[in-house]
Amino acid sequence: MRIILLGAPGSGKGTQGDMITTKYGFPRISTGDLLREEVVAGTPLGEIAKTAMERGELAKDELVIEMVDKRIQQDDCRDGYVLDGFPRNIPQAQKLEEIDRTREVVIEIFLEDAVVVKRLSARRICSSCGMIYNLLVKVPERMGVCDSCGGKLVQRDDDNPEVIQERLHVYHGQTEPLVEYYRRNGVFHRIDGDDTMQSVFEGICQVLDDALSETESQN
Ligand code: AMP
Repeated sequence: MRIILLGAPGSGKGTQGDMITTKYGFPRISTGDLLREEVVAGTPLGEIAKTAMERGELAKDELVIEMVDKRIQQDDCRDGYVLDGFPRNIPQAQKLEEIDRTREVVIEIFLEDAVVVKRLSARRICSSCGMIYNLLVKVPERMGVCDSCGGKLVQRDDDNPEVIQERLHVYHGQTEPLVEYYRRNGVFHRIDGDDTMQSVFEGICQVLDDALSETESQN
């Protein structure tokens, strides 16, 4: 089963994706994380994607699709996987269906733009293990230090006011049409993201438990 997490930047896809991994075992695949790794490693792919990422624009579809294709063929994705940040537009969604014809569940974590801006400005990431914090709702025990590994907490380069606006613009223009796309396919669920991490997760678990028991009864 493929779980697709839709939602504006900062809506909590990464955090909720990790919680899904912990509870259900499906690995979380974040195309943003994969691209950032390529940038840090200085690979040709990273070089190409870097400018788009700095501007808050989308990296080229072919690059991202190839990366996802490789990742979902790995063994740990055999029973299912969670996609965070992919697909970002309808062509990516169509390509994904061609690459892997598995059952899909799509969950949008919905958040108003004003809340997105507030959240992204307060987001901090561990530079060592990638753990996500938020100075408003998920505060580290020691300022600037990761609770989990002691790494240094940093702000993402694209979490600055101008780039946040561009990312929101791209989200509404290119990614939001996926809501209608998936609604028509009957696999779409919307969850209010402006709630505690735990409440949002409970909503997600309900959707996933239903989908999993349906899959079991079909087998
Ligand atoms: P994220 O970590 O998901 O917010 O992604 C950070 C940046 O990586 C985005 O602003 C894009 O520049 C790029 N990116 C991530 N996922 C995709 C995707 N599916 N298609 C194109 N670009 C992407």
